[in-house]
Amino acid sequence: MSLGIFKIPTPKNEPVLSYAPGSKEKEELKKELARLKSVQVDIPMYINGKEVRTEEKISIHPPHEISHTLGHYHKGDSSHVNAAIDAALKARTAWELMPWEDRAAVFLKAADLLAGPYRARMNAATMLGQSKNAYQAEIDAACEMIDFFRFNAKYMEEIYHIQPESAPGIWNRLEHRPLEGFVFAISPFNFTSIAANLCAAPAMLGNVVVWKPAETQIYSAKVIMELFKEAGLPDGVINLIYTDGPVAGDIVFEHPEFAGLHFTGSTGVFQQLWKLIGNNIHKYNTYPRIVGETGGKDFILAHPSADADALSTAIVRGAFEFQGQKCSAASRAYVPESMWAKVKANIGQDLSNITMGNPEDFTHFVNAVIDERAFDKISSYIAAAKKSKDAEIVFGGNYNKSEGYFIEPTIILAKTPDYTTLCEEIFGPVLTIYVYPDSQFDETVTLVDQTSPYALTGAIFAQDREVITATNIKLRNAAGNYYINDKPTGAVVGQQPFGGGRASGTNDKAGSILNLFRWISPRTMKENLNPPKDYRYPFLQEK
Ligand code: NAD
Repeated sequence: MSLGIFKIPTPKNEPVLSYAPGSKEKEELKKELARLKSVQVDIPMYINGKEVRTEEKISIHPPHEISHTLGHYHKGDSSHVNAAIDAALKARTAWELMPWEDRAAVFLKAADLLAGPYRARMNAATMLGQSKNAYQAEIDAACEMIDFFRFNAKYMEEIYHIQPESAPGIWNRLEHRPLEGFVFAISPFNFTSIAANLCAAPAMLGNVVVWKPAETQIYSAKVIMELFKEAGLPDGVINLIYTDGPVAGDIVFEHPEFAGLHFTGSTGVFQQLWKLIGNNIHKYNTYPRIVGETGGKDFILAHPSADADALSTAIVRGAFEFQGQKCSAASRAYVPESMWAKVKANIGQDLSNITMGNPEDFTHFVNAVIDERAFDKISSYIAAAKKSKDAEIVFGGNYNKSEGYFIEPTIILAKTPDYTTLCEEIFGPVLTIYVYPDSQFDETVTLVDQTSPYALTGAIFAQDREVITATNIKLRNAAGNYYINDKPTGAVVGQQPFGGGRASGTNDKAGSILNLFRWISPRTMKENLNPPKDYRYPFLQEK
């Protein structure tokens, strides 16, 4: 029972540490990387707070050094899916009844632990397991995750303050109940913070969760579970299992108490899951919430009035940071003929300085792509472009998987506006540029809007205000996160709520109050302080 109306501390975005030479954070991170490289970690599933091991151990290797073994995870089967659901449902009542401020405190403590003693570990695990450089790990695994926990706690407080008006003699209230069942969180490989948030956002609001991460993120998923546990999350509230997607899906989507899907990943998988849920809709006790943030074909559109230097930097950073494996990464750019020579020279200059390699060496801007499947897919697009009469490789184009899955930052010049790599999500360090005649800017805006089914992120570069205004309107539905004279990546919690429309997802805006609304089902309560005691209304009397 709460004896106060508590206020969450006002959150501020976690400062991004620099990892500059001589800094304390750099020294700690290097030490942690060396420690993790010197051991092999045994990674169990976590069901009802217990570590669960199986006979099937799968080895984990850094994408940039496949000969090294970081450890093993224990693969689960359908029995573990059932056990995770049972554990979640068992934990449900106590977690739902726990005062909201105590639920908030668990995640506020997790944020503080991550800002302090867990920071180097979470970053190092992300660098080694997902091949991120120190800066990319810091903005994701440390800062964004901390921000998700702190800002969501504040948003939860704001939600609980949403209360209806009351007429005289009446007291109306809204109870922001968690969903009646369990939430299934399915997370992608590319952001450690997204994986944590897919579980933590529903859990904070009092929901219980079964979490299935991408196989290639399991190494840092273990650190997330340890963080939750140390922060005081009760057993069974979040249960972490490692099974193939369909093994989990087949059981979860048949379960009457399945109450919500919190998904981030590819569009194809999300659409498949939505169909499954639709086909099973009669089996559920409640209509499940379906929240999915999916693929993109993110654009940069330059007007002839754009600043060529700013545009070139946005292209290099927007397309190639974390090897282009951000859902927001620029993967197509439209450059006017008059600017192309300068932009090409600038990009060439930048790319000639960029090195690619192991993230343990902090000088590398580019590291490896996540796994062999991704390497083969991305390199097949490059190979096809090399052969096509409609495309020309202007930078990069080399790849090698002998030591790790390395693909050079690659720029394809497309000669037709519907060339494959202008339309399909590649999810790697490949940007396609289409150079258009300066006189055809309006037609190019239409191309940008209609070339792909996605609408996740996009950027317009222009100095001419009227052009900016008109383009903002024409591209209103082309991106859920839209940037003016900035790269289309790097959304910050509390500042640029993230999510896209069209085939890119349900646009429920991770890192904002809007996402949290999906994990509650309000109950309206009307209390009559002076109930009538006679059924007859005054109008029933003629005189
Ligand atoms: P993916 O779709 O291959 O996998 C995502 C998750 O779904 C993984 O945990 C995977 O194991 C699981 N899965 C796959 N098939 C399944 C099935 N049949 N049943 C249940 N689960 C299943 O995506 P990925 O390669 O991990 O991530 C990259 C994708 O994620 C890209 O398309 C990217 O655009 C997208 N993404 C989007 C956002 C966003 O906010 N819009 C953020 C990050 C990543």
